[in-house]
Order: sequence, then C-alpha cells, then structure tokens
Amino acid sequence: MPQDINSGQSIRYIKGVGEARARLFSKLGICTVYDAINYFPREYEDRTEVKKIIEVMDGEECGVTARLVSEIAETRPRRNLLVTKALVTDGTAFLSLTWFNQRYIKNSLQKDVEYIFFGKVKRTGMRIEMNSPVIEKADQSGKITGRILPVYSLTKGLTQAHVRKLTENSLYLIKDKLEETLPEDLRKEYKLSQVKFSYEEIHFPKNFSNMEEARRRLVFEELLLLQLSLIRSKGVSSEQKGIKFQPIDMAPLLDKLTFSLTNAQKKVFEEIRKDMESARRMNRLIQGDVGSGKTIIAVMAIYMAAKNGYQSAFMVPTEILAEQHYRSVSTLFDSLGIKVSLLTGSTRKKEKEEIKSSLRNGEIDVVIGTHAILEDDAGFDRLGLVITDEQHRFGVRQRAKISTKGENPDILVMTATPIPRTLSLVLYGDLDVSVIDELPPNRKPIDTYAVDGSFRQRIYNFIRKNVTQGRQAYIVCPLVEDSDEISAESAEGLAERIRDNELKGLRVGLIHGKMKSSDKETVMRSYVKGELDVLVSTTVIEVGVNVPNATLMVIESAERFGLAQLHQLRGRVGRGEHKSYCILINQSKSEISRQRMEIMASTNDGFVISEKDLELRGPGDVFGVRQHGLPELRIANLYRDMGILKEVQMAVKHIMSNDLLAKDEQYRPLADKLDYIMKEKFREIAIN
Ligand code: ADP
Ligand code: MG
Repeated sequence: MPQDINSGQSIRYIKGVGEARARLFSKLGICTVYDAINYFPREYEDRTEVKKIIEVMDGEECGVTARLVSEIAETRPRRNLLVTKALVTDGTAFLSLTWFNQRYIKNSLQKDVEYIFFGKVKRTGMRIEMNSPVIEKADQSGKITGRILPVYSLTKGLTQAHVRKLTENSLYLIKDKLEETLPEDLRKEYKLSQVKFSYEEIHFPKNFSNMEEARRRLVFEELLLLQLSLIRSKGVSSEQKGIKFQPIDMAPLLDKLTFSLTNAQKKVFEEIRKDMESARRMNRLIQGDVGSGKTIIAVMAIYMAAKNGYQSAFMVPTEILAEQHYRSVSTLFDSLGIKVSLLTGSTRKKEKEEIKSSLRNGEIDVVIGTHAILEDDAGFDRLGLVITDEQHRFGVRQRAKISTKGENPDILVMTATPIPRTLSLVLYGDLDVSVIDELPPNRKPIDTYAVDGSFRQRIYNFIRKNVTQGRQAYIVCPLVEDSDEISAESAEGLAERIRDNELKGLRVGLIHGKMKSSDKETVMRSYVKGELDVLVSTTVIEVGVNVPNATLMVIESAERFGLAQLHQLRGRVGRGEHKSYCILINQSKSEISRQRMEIMASTNDGFVISEKDLELRGPGDVFGVRQHGLPELRIANLYRDMGILKEVQMAVKHIMSNDLLAKDEQYRPLADKLDYIMKEKFREIAIN
C-alpha cells in the first residue's frame, strides 16, 4: 500500500487543507493520505434513527421529521450571544428547538417544508427539546442525517467536520488504488472483507454490520502485521539451533539452600533442563506471581551453564535489584567456584573496563546487571545463557539485543505477569511458557486494606506495633508523574517528618532514585540486615526487592498507581513466614478509585488483578503497550479483540511454518507491507 504513490502523498494537496490545518492534523499523526485513511473513528453517531416526536426519550440522540409551526424567534440575552428558537411538529407532539450563535438558521428554515432534525433530546414532563440540532431537508436525507457518521478523536482547532472531510477526500483519492495485502486464501479462511470495502465501511458505514465486518478485517490485519514484525525483530526462535548442554548434578547447589523447591519450581526447572540439554535453542518465559520463587530457578540454570563451561548474563531493570541479586547469587556461588560480578550504570569506569575484559577472556562466569550489560563493547568469551528478570520492564528491543551477543545463547525471561494475558500473548507469543503456579509453603495471604487519610495516625501506631514484634515496614510515597525530582522530595519530606514526630524513636531509612547508587546500596543493605525498621521509598523498590522480614507495606496516594504496580509493591511483603499487611491510602473520592482499591483488597492473584485493571480502564487505553516498545495500535484493542488475536496466531503459525512470506507469490503484498513497517515503525526495535 505505501508503495502506491498517492497514499504517501501529503494531505496538503487535499482540497481544504492549508498549511495551518495540516499542522493540526500532524498533531494527530496524520501527514499523508495514507495516514488519513488509517485514522480510524473512535465511535459512531447513528443518524439513521428517525422517530416520532412522541416516542423520543430523554437523553436519546435521534432524528425526527417535522415542520415548522411557529415564527423563528431571535433574542440577544447578552452581547455575543444570539439565541434562535423555533417550534416544530410531526403531528404526534411538539418539539422546541434552540440554537446558539447560528445566524444562518433564521433564513434557512421555511414553513411547509419537511426537515429532519437530528440531535440530543431533552424531555421534562410534557416539554420536549433539542439543542443545536443538525438540519437537513427531508427529501435530501442521506447527506448528513440518515447516515452513520464517524466520530474521531480531535485536537484543539479541529472539528469532526474537518476530519470527516479529510477522510472522505482521501478515500476518494485512493480507494480504487488500495492494494489488497491479505491473500485470498487467508481472507476466505478467516472470513475477512476486502481492503476497499473495509476502508470505506470503517469510516462511512452503510450499516453497523458492515462496520463490524470492516473492523474485523482491519483489526486482523493490524494484529497480523504486529505479530509478524515482532517475530522478525526478535530474530530468536526455539526452532533455531542452540547449545547442547550436558546433564549436571544439581545437588551441590541445592544442598546449600535453606528450603526445598516447591513442586511447581521442580516442574519448571525440569522444562528448562530439557531445553538446555536439547540441541534446539531455549527461548522460554517463566511466569510466576510475585514471591513465587523465580530467582532460584534462574540460579539453577546459571549453575548448569557454568558447570558446562559457559558464561551467563542476568539482566534486571533496576540497580537495586541487580545489587540484591548479586548479593544472594554470589553468596551461593562463591563456595562452588563460580565467579560472579556486578555491572551497572554506576559501576566505576575503571572497574567496568576490568569486568568487561574479564568477561571477554572468560574469567567471569556470571555477570549480573542492568542495561549496562547491553553496551556495545560488552563482549563475552562463551556466552551460553541470557536471563532477563522482570521482563515486563524491558522493551522488546533490549531483549532482542542481548540475545545477539554470543552465538545463539539460550534465552530465559522471567516475569511476574503484571500484564494481562492478551498482551502477554502478543509480546511473548513466540516463547515457550512455564508457569510457577504455586507459592512456597507457609505463605499467608497479605491482608489488604484501603483507607483514607484520616487513618494515618492509626497506621503509624500499627507500624510501631509491628516493629515491636521485630518486623519491618515500607512506606511508599506517591508517584509524581514524570518527576523523579518531586517524588524524591516528597519521600524526603515524609521521612523527616515521621522520624521527628509520628515514628520518633524508630530507625527510619530513606531511598529514592535520585540518590547515588552507593548510597542506595548502603541503605538497602542496612534494611536487609534489619538495622532499619522503616524504609520510606519511592517506587524504586517496586520490583524484585526481597526482604522477608518486612511485613507491612503502606502506600501513600495509592490511587495514583496502576493496579499492576500496586500488586508489585504489595509483593515486597509476604515473602517470609510472618503474616503481612498492605495498607492503601486512597486520597481520591472517585468511584473508579474505590473500585480499584476494592479489587486490591479482594485478591492476591496477579492475573486477576491485571485483567480487572484493563477492564476498568476500558477499551481505548491499551496500557503498557508503548512501555513494552510496541507501536501504538490504531484499531485493535487487546482486551476486546482477544478472539481475533487467537485467530491471528493460528494464521501466523501457518505462515511461518510454510515460509509463505518468502515462497508464496500471493503473500508478496503482505511481505512488502511488513518490510515497510519494519523500516518505518520498528526502526528503533530492529537490530541490524
Ligand atoms: P520472585 O518470584 O518474586 O522473584 P523470589 O525468587 O525473590 O521471588 O523469592 C521470594 C522469596 O521466597 C525469597 O526469599 C526466596 O528465598 C524464597 N523462596 C523461594 N523458593 C522457596 C521455596 N521453595 N521455599 C521457601 N522459600 C522459597
Ligand atoms: Mg524476582
């Protein structure tokens, strides 16, 4: 499609689009004619419904066919305000019409002519009204009334009429030249409408069933291209040849643990061991709720690689987490003769150089770190295994990038599934999945309470009580959008206040993203050792942090966090044998906040929470998509379109396993469009 000369043409050449308006359209991402027809309606206005006046209901949007029965009255209650009123009837009842500042109305309505008036009805007792209705002569119906009209998202300065006109003209220009990207067999198999029909009917549908049909095809196509481009950009697949590791006796490692593995952990490691011992490349995702014990699984895989003489890279999203993993992993590995090192953004330059050179000559077996591992000059001698923890925090690009280091190293990614299943299907559709569906024994569910600010004093008393019993607490400060600075300040302020007042006498620590890494490390170490009773923090502790003695999580302004994030934060407690609590301070009075807090209080299940969250946020807001490094979806909705997504995945399997993009001439247009998208939209994800 983009290869068609007209579709890449700027909208400047469309009638009615001058320089100023073009600039406004560009704010909506519309620069070319192709963009214009791919700017899909948000919803529709049904102007096909014409009713008898007597039948219309309060609040309803509809049309009536009626004639004028009064003079048209104009009044000027204020300067700059012209009110025009008229009374019409269709014989069943009277309808009062009002317009504001529409000078032309007076001369455009004639007596004894039938018009269709379309608008929102207000009905109070016997009185039926419509404000600012759209008018059309009944015998010309179909131009503005009598139709289903698209409603687009706008930006300041643009009206629906502007966008409608642009779409209409753009369609007119290119609809006969649109290339069909979906081959006929695919369209038959999945009952997908043709390209021209789809674009016409999505913007200006003749009826709603046509619109649905059109939408289905466009959603299918969008998801298909998304899936295919993801597969291509990752360039990793378990169909590839990989390293064949030799079986290893795990006993020396397991003997060092203070617990025995859960059955779920055993089962998952068994799956990993099979992958590693096979000649295929491992490409596996471990899903397990917070606290399910994913780290040890990673450690076991690393052990297996090391004993085979291969290096491993363990990548995590935050420095705090990297340091924590480094502490626990090196404690286990030191006596087993496996060399571990830590590489993060704040590792000193000289040390970094040393680590990198020991990695290159194979002196180091395991490197644990943040993206710093991805730096271009970080090379390995024999990289055999790449693990990413808290995968949902990384973009697709990073996952792709690290897997290119070394020669087809095995890949293991771990996530606590804070994203809905639909999204994870899209993101991880190419991975084999293992699920840790069991928590270690003796974990008690975390009791969660949502309260308002008036409970603070009681909360502080509760903290004291817990500390007296030897436990520790977290207080997380509100998220301040886009500002680490303010978040850090508010955490500082809170820590100071409670140190001197409410929690006087307790040992209160502070940690936030603006602190120097070595300072964070010091604070975290003292908290782990139990030298601090309370840790006031920003969201830097959100993922992975593991202090089993901490049993109380207090979250200030909880309404500002996403549910998945609250779940992650709550997961910082309940990690040991002690009963744990999470207190959400909800400052908002809104119904939606109340419902969200209710969900948190009612379940500890991360899956349930992420799905409910998406449901509550409703269609239209596909959260996390951009964060995951995906292009924005124009029409598909990962929540609503789960059904289509499943069909798409079947189609993708069929296409990939028969190599149709390369081999079947019918698939050429689809392959071309995919190339184009890879070039344009995925520029940053592609890994050449
Ligand atoms: P997550 O899955 O959230 O990354 P971790 O790997 O950090 O969880 O484990 C959480 C806590 O549970 C850690 O303190 C860990 O030592 C402990 N743990 C892991 N597996 C078991 C087990 N089988 N029995 C008891 N405790 C375990
Ligand atoms: Mg973890």
